[in-house]
Amino acid sequence: MENETRFLCEAIELAYANVEQGGRPFGAVVVRDGEVIATGVNEMIKTNDPTAHAEMTAIRAASQKLGSPNLEGCAVYASGHPCPMCMAAMRLAGISEVAYAYSNDDGAPFGLTSAAIYAELAKPFAEQSMKIRYVPVRPESRSVFMRSGSGGRTDRRRFD
Ligand SMILES: [Zn+2]
Repeated sequence: MENETRFLCEAIELAYANVEQGGRPFGAVVVRDGEVIATGVNEMIKTNDPTAHAEMTAIRAASQKLGSPNLEGCAVYASGHPCPMCMAAMRLAGISEVAYAYSNDDGAPFGLTSAAIYAELAKPFAEQSMKIRYVPVRPESRSVFMRSGSGGRTDRRRFD
């Protein structure tokens, strides 16, 4: 619990420091075995990268440091409630635990909330404001089997 408070305070300090640098007020730290292995801040403004949220930059840094996209056994401490993109990225990376210090309700008066996008994404595709369509195109050249490897073995390439 004490460590949790310390890691969350570190994430908050990163957020404040980022604001002083002209960035948005979000910071995150990645912890493994009680040690901070990577940190991140929101770099959207600096990089013109809409995906450069604090949690994303932190897990990218952690993966680079560990030399693996698998962050199993790592925890993320974020200054604010992670948005759905970051939550999904952390899940996909195998992050086992997430804690955040400020909720969407805390951030809402400042326009710092992802509650609307959570609500939107919970709706069926047809009811969402972004037009999402399933278009089952199968290019002729890729429609059946693909050769793989040098042995001439054919198998169904999977993308999962
Ligand atoms: Zn995010």
